[in-house]
Amino acid sequence: MNLQTLENTLSQETFSDEDLLAFLSLTEPALCSRLWREAYDRTTRVHGNALWFRGLIEISNYCIYDCRYCGIRKGNHAAQRYTLTLDEIVEAARYAVRAGYGSVALQAGERTDEKFVSFVEEALVRIHRMSVEEGIAEGCGMTLSFGEQTEETYERWAQASGNRNALRYLLRIETSNLPLFRYLHSGQGGAQKTWEARLQSLALLRKLGYQVGTGVMIGIPGQSLADLVRDIRTFESLDVDMLGMGPYLVSHGGAMVEDGMMQKDVLLTLTRNMLAATRLALPTVNIAAATALETLVPGGRSLGVLSGCNVMMPNVTPQRTRASYQLYDNKQGTEAEPDSNVELEKELVAVTGREIGRHRYGSSLHFRSRRGLPAA
Ligand code: SAH
Repeated sequence: MNLQTLENTLSQETFSDEDLLAFLSLTEPALCSRLWREAYDRTTRVHGNALWFRGLIEISNYCIYDCRYCGIRKGNHAAQRYTLTLDEIVEAARYAVRAGYGSVALQAGERTDEKFVSFVEEALVRIHRMSVEEGIAEGCGMTLSFGEQTEETYERWAQASGNRNALRYLLRIETSNLPLFRYLHSGQGGAQKTWEARLQSLALLRKLGYQVGTGVMIGIPGQSLADLVRDIRTFESLDVDMLGMGPYLVSHGGAMVEDGMMQKDVLLTLTRNMLAATRLALPTVNIAAATALETLVPGGRSLGVLSGCNVMMPNVTPQRTRASYQLYDNKQGTEAEPDSNVELEKELVAVTGREIGRHRYGSSLHFRSRRGLPAA
């Protein structure tokens, strides 16, 4: 592809599989920059200049699954397990609310036992109450990321959140290459995940009124560019509201160290191409710049924003447990105090030209159009 054919392709409103594959294949710096710029500009046109923040709280790293890629999989006996206290969770959320983030995102390893389900329920009730006391009339937005659960559990959490208009769930499909999906989830140390169950969970979340987010890891050993194109088509067919995607990074606590990982600069380019191609294919969804991108290269999340992302999830987890939520090696932000987010905000604004959309929910245009809600 040369610059002229790229220009011609970028002038389209919709893109064929061949177009998407061509975007993903770009390696020449001038062509890549042009693609990323187009994704950034379309993001501005559709979403405006605001970058939405969600304060990320990693509430526990206990997990019943044994996903090969993940450093907190059940079979990693070297992981130091922890669960935050309810007070710690509420105070972390208060920090995010006072910073004007408008939404919090709660994530953990997966558990389905009643003790955990009711613990999360109580945390949601208390965060909602706190955020109303802090002056958000309807309560802050909440994004949950606790994996596959029953319909009853999803419904209990939806009620506990107190605000169904700003209730979201992140559950990545990880890859739409089914043999690869099976390999990734074939660790022997825990319960097993299936593709069917994952789709079933996404359907339940949609039915219960959640804004539904999914995503994949980019550059998984054994994943092809055609797989990434199929991933984008899968996002479309699932009609998702939000996406979170980052580079696959090897984890020494995981169970696929011998599979290696892509070389860093090649992986960075591929990740940015994938973010941009996805933005062009799904203009109205929110796309988050993942922490994994920051780990791949310092300032990586800004590069994500410059490739079509419009959401950022700064870590507000208390210092005492940060280092233990090690999904992959050298995860960024483990040493940082929450106040370092002020530095992150400044750097982001300077590098990306965006402004931080404070004191707003920042729900995706895709969701608002579907539900007839006006303001972001
Ligand atoms: N247990 C929950 C939430 C924690 S994992 C869940 O599985 O949904 C959140 C995301 O981190 C996963 O969906 C996965 O895409 C990503 N992740 C895990 N290990 C990773 C790795 N080694 N490299 C990059 N991303 C990883």
